[in-house]
Order: sequence, then structure tokens, then C-alpha cells
Amino acid sequence: MHATTSADGASTLEARFRQIVDATPEASFLRYLDGALTYGEVDGRVSALSDWLRTHGVSHGDRVILLLQNVPDFAIAVLASWRIGAIVVPINPMYQDRELTGMFADCEPAAIVCHDGEHGRIAAIAACLAHRPAIILSGSRDYQSGDDERVLPPATTVVDGVARIALLPAVEADAAPGDSALPTDLGLLLYTSGTTGRPKGAMHRHDALLVNAILPLRWHRFSQPPTVYAMAPLFHITGFSLHFGTALAAGGSLCLTYRFQPDVVLDMIERTRPSFTVGSITAFMALMNHPDTRADHFGSFEMIWSGGAPVPPAVAAEFARRFGKTLHVAYGMTETGGATHATPPDRGRQIDPASGSISVGIPVPDTFQRIVGDEGEVPAGETGELWVKAPQLMTGYWHRPEENAVTLVDGWLRTGDIGKVDADGWLYLVDRKKDMIIASGFKVWPREVEDVLYDHPAVREAAVVGIPDSYRGETVKAVVSLKPGATVDAADLEAHCRANLASYKVPRFFEFLDDLPKTLTGKIIRAAVR
Ligand code: AMP
Repeated sequence: MHATTSADGASTLEARFRQIVDATPEASFLRYLDGALTYGEVDGRVSALSDWLRTHGVSHGDRVILLLQNVPDFAIAVLASWRIGAIVVPINPMYQDRELTGMFADCEPAAIVCHDGEHGRIAAIAACLAHRPAIILSGSRDYQSGDDERVLPPATTVVDGVARIALLPAVEADAAPGDSALPTDLGLLLYTSGTTGRPKGAMHRHDALLVNAILPLRWHRFSQPPTVYAMAPLFHITGFSLHFGTALAAGGSLCLTYRFQPDVVLDMIERTRPSFTVGSITAFMALMNHPDTRADHFGSFEMIWSGGAPVPPAVAAEFARRFGKTLHVAYGMTETGGATHATPPDRGRQIDPASGSISVGIPVPDTFQRIVGDEGEVPAGETGELWVKAPQLMTGYWHRPEENAVTLVDGWLRTGDIGKVDADGWLYLVDRKKDMIIASGFKVWPREVEDVLYDHPAVREAAVVGIPDSYRGETVKAVVSLKPGATVDAADLEAHCRANLASYKVPRFFEFLDDLPKTLTGKIIRAAVR
């Protein structure tokens, strides 16, 4: 049995990386489609890139923006930035210019890493900044040879005069390793807006990032250092902490497929036989709806987490029945740096007898929870806002003192999620504070109605929103997509809801779409549905 419950005494993930490189340079670290890199090979690229960053003026505390999909250069750029004490700012490369302009201006990067095909667009946005950042490229087809057209963008383009990480000349040894980040330094700035609102950068220290990375290893004793399949994007907190961080903390390997594409994911699982992943329920639903998915695809997994969005009980039950594995629900947010709650590996789904919803778990080690109502903390079973206190939380939002004062209270983080805790400490989320619908004074939590819709055999995706109503103030509307080949009409769905919900919660309007709008991390965007 391999005891992968700590990072073997290292105080940052970067120190842990150097430790593994010294001990087992031949161990497999990154798997990228049909390519593979050992810890030693990754270290070679990390040294070359940290040297390039240093000579381009990037130093301790500077920000390095990463606009990358799940490619080896993501891990290389994070480790190279940390080696010189810089702070990484991963950003979804699919964001539009307007969104990027705001984030660039907010964090003022000293350097940017982007995909080769994006260079023109990114250079134009960066040119508007007061201090011109250095730009270096990542070739999406580097480090692999199969050139899988199903998932990779068109062939790598050469941009004259712009460096590319995979082609940087090797350097002998790190010129000034003393710059490396300390545990109390910031290592990560991650923009979040939930699914609405102005993006704010959540600041994470290296010591907190290490706590987050180790978490799955404390929670489950893997038989050997895990092979982690990165189902979530590395630019999201789930991918950053619970894929990249966890694989590295354990000295395991990290499997990357550029982006989530079901048939490519299934091939990668067959090739690498992963033991751990975390995905949003919509990702698992996409795999469940793929005709080639077999129980064997999940056979190598020792633990599977689903988090980031509500897990409909009917979908979790179908997953268990078809694939013989439990989706262990976990909960966290960008601000918590990873998970604050998870379902213990030896426990199945914990269902709330009152609402039928699945618990998102119990607090992970060293994490405390409180449910707070208008008059302060409420007793077990009562509903209120979830507050959490833990060593893995963010230290605040970058340059947002007013929002920090509201969000962080005496070390407690106000999550904005509404939930209740039962007598044994299991947390049940009811909904997001801002998504609550008030119809004729009755509070309707969209989640509960969506769970009922998901119980209907024809429904593939469901989102429930409030729309203005002259009589009820707001009324309930459901937008659904159907499973392939399924037919159902509004009257059928209404009857199904009436049979399962109090009448004030039953949607008064139904709309059918082929697909519901989702974030890249798989969350259905209620604001867009609205
Ligand atoms: P993000 O910062 O993008 O990770 O979004 C965090 C939000 O996702 C939380 O505040 C919750 O509203 C939601 N969330 C995370 N995990 C779960 C879960 N297991 N069930 C329901 N909602 C979740």
C-alpha cells in the first residue's frame, strides 16, 4: 500500500515537484493524447521557461497569465512561474476580447502564455496595457504525434519572432533557484464571477494550494500514486487543484486531452486507465449518453468525484446502475480553492428524506461549516447561507477591499449558497442565494424543480428560472432539452411536476431547446436561460 496522504514534507507544490524530479526523474508525469513526459522531461522545460521569464523581466510577485486548454504547457508554465516566485493567472482561452480586456487590466500581467493560433488576438489586447507583457506561445500539437483532429485545432502556426515553450533551448541548471515561492506567497489568482457578475480574482497562497491538492489523498488511500484524468479544465479551480495539484502532490500522473470531447475522453481512459477524476455532472451525462461508453471505461477508477453543479439523484442512480461505480459528490468554489465538502469513499449517496436531494458531503479535514440565517447561526435542519472556515480558502479578492469585507467575516467565507446541515453534519444545498424565485411570496428553489424534471425519462437537461409575472411577482419557467429520440410535451411534463411538487413550484411555462447554455466547466447558466 502506498501512503500518499501527504506531499512528503514539501511545503509548496513547486518544492514537491523538485523533490520528485530528484528522486524519480523517470516517473511518468504528463500524458497528452498519445504523448508522454516524465518528471525529468517536464523539469527540463520548466527550467528553460523560468529562465526565459526571468530574462524577460518577470520576477517575484509578478502575474503570469495562462490562456491555455489542458495541454502539458499549462503544468510547465505554472511550475516555471512558481520557480521564480511569480503568481499564475489561468484564464479560460475561450473568453471574448471584452472579458479578457477587463481581466488583463485588473491583474496587469508581466507575461502571457497563449496558444499559437491565438497570438494575434492576444497581442492586440495586451498592446492596450500600460506595461507591455512578454508573450510566449504554446503549440497545441506539441508533445504528441497523433494529431487527433477530433479535438485539436488546426496545425500549429509559426509566429515569426515569438518564442514557443516546447522549442526553448535547454538550460544547464536554474540560474537563481533562490527566487522560489514561499508557502505564504500568493501562487494563484483565479477569476470568478459565479455565472454572473463582474469577474474578481480569488487570491490563493501556496500553503493553501498544497492543502487543496492533498485533500483527495487524505480522503482516499489510493493503491498507488493516482493517475488523474483531467475531466475539468485546468483553468478552473477543480482542474487546477484536484487534477494538476493532486497528481503532483502524489507523484502520480496527469492525463490531458486538450478539452472535453466524449469520444476522445473514452479513448484516453482506455489508453491510461486512470484511478481518479472529478467532473461536473454534465460531463458525466455526456459520457453516459455516448453510445460507446461501457462499464469497463470506469473499471480502473478507485474514486470519482462530481462537483461544481447539482447532481440530480436520478442521474447518479443511473450512473451507479450502468457502470457499477458511485459518483461521490463534492462541493467547493473558486474561493475555497478546491473542495470543502466531500462524500466519504466508503459511503454511498446520502439522500435528504424531506427533499430527495443528494448531500454534497461532510466537511473535509480541518474544515468547519455554519448555516447562518437572518438572526445568526441556525440549528441542524434549518436553512440558511453556508459559511465555511478552512486552511484552504482564498485570502481575498485581488484589489477588492469592499467585497472582501462582505465575503470574509472573522475568517469565515460567506459562500452565497443556501443549504442545511443534518444532525450528522451532512450538507444539503438548496440553491444559490440569487437564484431563488419568489412566486406570490412562496420561495421556490429551482434546484428542487429541476431534480423532479430530471426524474422524467425523456429529460436530458433542465433549468428552472423565475420570470416576471404581473400577478405572482415572479412565476416559474422550465427550459429543457430531451434525450435523443424522446418525445414529450409541456402537458406531460406539467403533469409529472404536479405529481411530485407543491402546486406553487410547478412550472407555468415550458420551453424546449436542443441544448441548454453551459459554462465551459459544464454548469448550466441560469442567467442565460432567463
Ligand atoms: P465555481 O467557483 O465556478 O467553482 O462555482 C462554485 C459554485 O458551484 C458554488 O458556490 C455552488 O453554487 C456550485 N456548486 C459547487 N459544487 C456543487 C455541488 N456539489 N452541488 C451543487 N452546487 C455546487
